[in-house]
Amino acid sequence: MDLAKSNLTRNILIGLGLGVIAGLVLSQMISFQVDEAGKFLTDKNGRKILSDGFVETYVVSGGLELLGAIFIKALKLIVVPLVFVSLVCGTAALDDIRKLGTIGLKTLGLYLGTTGIAISIAIGLSLVFKPGSGLSEVAKRVYEPREGESILEVLSGIVPNNLASAFLQADMLQIIFSAVLLGVALLVSGQPGQRILNLFSDLNEVIMKLIVIIMFYAPIGVFAKIAQVFATEGFDTILALGKYFLLVVVALVIHGTIVYPTLLKVLSGLNPITFFRKMRDPQVFAFSTASSNATIPVTLRTLENRMGAHNKVASFTVPLGATINMDGTAIMQGVATVFIAQFAGIDLGIGQILTVIFTATIASVGTAGVPSAGLIMLVIVLNQVGLPVEHIGLIIGIDRLLDMVRTAVNVTGDCAVTCIVAKSEKQLDEKIYNDADAG
Ligand code: ASP
Repeated sequence: MDLAKSNLTRNILIGLGLGVIAGLVLSQMISFQVDEAGKFLTDKNGRKILSDGFVETYVVSGGLELLGAIFIKALKLIVVPLVFVSLVCGTAALDDIRKLGTIGLKTLGLYLGTTGIAISIAIGLSLVFKPGSGLSEVAKRVYEPREGESILEVLSGIVPNNLASAFLQADMLQIIFSAVLLGVALLVSGQPGQRILNLFSDLNEVIMKLIVIIMFYAPIGVFAKIAQVFATEGFDTILALGKYFLLVVVALVIHGTIVYPTLLKVLSGLNPITFFRKMRDPQVFAFSTASSNATIPVTLRTLENRMGAHNKVASFTVPLGATINMDGTAIMQGVATVFIAQFAGIDLGIGQILTVIFTATIASVGTAGVPSAGLIMLVIVLNQVGLPVEHIGLIIGIDRLLDMVRTAVNVTGDCAVTCIVAKSEKQLDEKIYNDADAG
């Protein structure tokens, strides 16, 4: 069985478009719970709570919720086995284990470097356009900060002390660590290793087919997720915070359409237009799921089948990128920090700005590839420069939409870096990359 690829992409885009329309129509039909003073009631994540009318209960929280949840769960279902099996195969396919070090260093360097660029753009724009000055508190909602993981905890947590719990918790860094270790062991185990490896190769094929099957459901899943977001995320809040919203989006667009293509061209000589044509599927998935992790199956499939990156590189860079490379998130954190400082009337000195650049780069590394994770890590950045954390309540109302856009940028960054690293390691088949119909 193979996919009618162009039809699927087309159908997913139709699902996206219909989702936006349905969401906007629904947003006119629903209402939210308010207290006696007429203020919106919010849940513990700062989201407005729907009232209990028919459309709210059966359409938005019922049908759309169900269809969307099935979509996300089906994707997540294959992430862990996919990453593990694919990375074992990728590692064992390295003819020289030292290559792992080179690939690892190049990837880390590019991931951190691009994040540094991203946040610098964000802060530069925010200092010039001052999104937080002269703002009223109209949009403010309550925010109760949750504990984010510190970078030390992230680092020490890379080594699992129990493989089963790494799998159960879908801890990506632990899974990456275990898969690389097993891949290396298989590589040096001679015949027995080869026999097990054959099994893994077969499993890899089967999992790839599983992705294809699950993707058939994507147009419906994308429709449901998008419709729900557009129905419940108030555009009134976007207007109130228009400058902040716009600045984050502009910084994301600059990073996505100028920085990545330039790096691709300069560092690898690859055609950026071809790259963007092939990025449509992962970008739409990232946009509608707001999760780099849930998008891994599509990202990996696109890189290997459509762009010609070898599994040796992609199986390592993609899960790692979905876990630590969050340029879009760093952009939001940069703009949000300057925004909150300006709102609170605090001038950030050059030392503090450098601290923000450094902390946000690290914080974005520690941000999990799941919806809203960036907001949790923003607490660390704000604490580091002594800004009031409760002001996160200002931006929470529009964060879901921004989350969708920044996740698309996060995933684009993973793919751009994978192509650059794969090309430099001679692990990119340019025939496939340049073939518009590949995959
Ligand atoms: N949702 C983002 C991602 O999965 C993380 C974030 O910025 O919240 O890449």
